[in-house]
Amino acid sequence: MLARLFEGNRRFFSGAARHGHDVTDARRRAEKPTPSTLMIGCIDSRVPPEAIFDQPFGEILSMRTAGHLLDRAALASVELAVSRMRVPLIVVLGHENCAAVEYAVDATHRGEHPDGVLGYLVRQIAPSVPMDEALSGTQTYEGAVRGHVASVVAGVRAVPTVAEAVADGRLGVAGVRYGVTYGRAELLIEPA
Ligand SMILES: [Zn+2]
Repeated sequence: MLARLFEGNRRFFSGAARHGHDVTDARRRAEKPTPSTLMIGCIDSRVPPEAIFDQPFGEILSMRTAGHLLDRAALASVELAVSRMRVPLIVVLGHENCAAVEYAVDATHRGEHPDGVLGYLVRQIAPSVPMDEALSGTQTYEGAVRGHVASVVAGVRAVPTVAEAVADGRLGVAGVRYGVTYGRAELLIEPA
């Protein structure tokens, strides 16, 4: 499953994408969608999962929030995808130059604690923010992106329904980073 996504990404970044998302494709999969992957990604306009992994309609359950956060609504989607739709793969998809992660990094480094829902975003990402002053801005942002993907993977794996499906060998949870500059996906955390 993961191999199919990476093959699709290879087609995408080499300019040989196969799925143009035309209405024929949509109609073909309208009756019986068989999603293979729940993708937990960011709202970023440069990171649409079906396009960057060159997948047809009906293939990816797409859940996108700024900085791919987990909250009750997200966890309900995870539960539904695993227990009812029986997806064999969950991918947490972080990406290069993530505005949500950069916002959380900057707030954390300044010691700011925004009120309300943006505070929630910062608190969710803050534990993954490198605080080493010797790192460059890019290194800090990139470290936070990778750390936050790992943290969300751990959060998903901690869901009891997920843990059970993983233990039964029915499900894998992987972490992937997408580079917006080159259009290339990189496996950060093997599915388990
Ligand atoms: Zn983002």
